[in-house]
Amino acid sequence: MWYKPYGKTGKKISVISFGGMRFADPKDLDASAAVVLHGYRQGINYFDTAPFYCGDRSEDIFGAAVKQMKPGTFYLSTKCGVPDGGELRKSLEQSLKRLHAEKIHFFHIWCVTSLAAWEKRKSGGAVAAALKAKEEGLIEHVVISSHLPGNELRGVLEEGWFEGVTLGYCAINFPYREEALALAGRMNLGVVTMNPLAGGVIPRNAERMGFIKGPRDESVVAAALRFNISHDDITSALVGFSNVEQVDEACRAVENFRPYEQAHLDAVRRNVKESFNDLCTGCGYCLPCPQGVAVPKMMDSYNMKILMGQDPVQIRNRLKWHWNLKPSDAKACSLCGACEERCTQHLPIRERMKEIIDLPDET
Ligand code: SF4
Ligand code: SF4
Repeated sequence: MWYKPYGKTGKKISVISFGGMRFADPKDLDASAAVVLHGYRQGINYFDTAPFYCGDRSEDIFGAAVKQMKPGTFYLSTKCGVPDGGELRKSLEQSLKRLHAEKIHFFHIWCVTSLAAWEKRKSGGAVAAALKAKEEGLIEHVVISSHLPGNELRGVLEEGWFEGVTLGYCAINFPYREEALALAGRMNLGVVTMNPLAGGVIPRNAERMGFIKGPRDESVVAAALRFNISHDDITSALVGFSNVEQVDEACRAVENFRPYEQAHLDAVRRNVKESFNDLCTGCGYCLPCPQGVAVPKMMDSYNMKILMGQDPVQIRNRLKWHWNLKPSDAKACSLCGACEERCTQHLPIRERMKEIIDLPDET
């Protein structure tokens, strides 16, 4: 395993981190904890969970594994997504209990979906409560997890509250958060990337994604993980594991791996833009929309239809679970076409908006 420094914290974390949101059978505590322990034995030392993951079982699963792990050899990450400081404190105390831990090494201010939501985290006392818990020794590092676009997330990080950030970044949508990533690098913050495999889209489209493979990459999974961890500003790629085979595949990808050279990374970036000319890359050049429509989020969700067998349900799922939006949010679009003129991929945005508008919000 390869370990990188997590920002200025003095901690080194494994370049593959264990995400606890995809256990195959979360009701089976022992079987799920065995997958965590397998990752631990392979050298993974960063374990990420949250309340509500896997039917609210994920923290208990990690807690069962932690009892069998040597103290001081691993780091726990969990989260809280409420604005109220008192509620955050209760959530933290529950997490500590479930994880059988005296402290959380990386505690995330979680699910910051808009700048308005971010303001509420401060005014409601959540950020202050996390910092107080840090002073008391219950938290080692206060960090943030967010799907905000790069420019907005950059503004939040610039405020200087956090020692690290967890953000979505993968070979399909890398331009979307580049601004935040570059700033995190300049501020020497730790960066963990979520969805490095685009939530399973990359392995499910292995043939189409084949071009991201270099001569030493045995699979698109290996290539996609290496694309992330080769980036100087990325500390670790967070992978949600279901079974030991997936853990082994990810760990193999980084064994004896020398980071890609810049020329290869640049070629992959070029190829993504050229080979995916029907996909939104998340670059954000189409903004601003005069009607306030979140065009990149809408078009990113439309990507899922293209990549997942032309199934329109995938658009609604992506909007709901990834972006906290619904198809009817596209109704604000006046079909003016301003975004199309600016789109770097020359996408038929208005046509796609009409399709999204026609989808029901619920099944
Ligand atoms: S076409 Fe719709 S989404 Fe695009 S800029 Fe005009 S109003 Fe906004
Ligand atoms: S719709 Fe076009 S301009 Fe907008 S984020 Fe996607 S690729 Fe970029």
